[in-house]
Amino acid sequence: MAYSMSERLVRQRLRDNKGRAYCAECMAKDLGRNPAELKPAMEALVLRERFVAAACGCGASGLIYRW
Ligand SMILES: [Zn+2]
Repeated sequence: MAYSMSERLVRQRLRDNKGRAYCAECMAKDLGRNPAELKPAMEALVLRERFVAAACGCGASGLIYRW
C-alpha cells in the first residue's frame, strides 16, 4: 500500500517516539509542517498498522505507536 509523503513523515515520527502520543498540532510543530497537512495523514494511519488513538501531552487527541 502506498503512503503519501505526509503519512511517511507521521509514521516515522511516531515510530521514532514509541510510547509518546502526538496530536496533529504538536507533530506539525515538531516537524515544521502544516497541521492541516498532517491531520488527514494521521486519520489514514489510525486505520492501519499499529497506531491507536491516544491523548497528546497537550491534551488534544492524537496518535501513539503501539508495540
Ligand atoms: Zn498535542
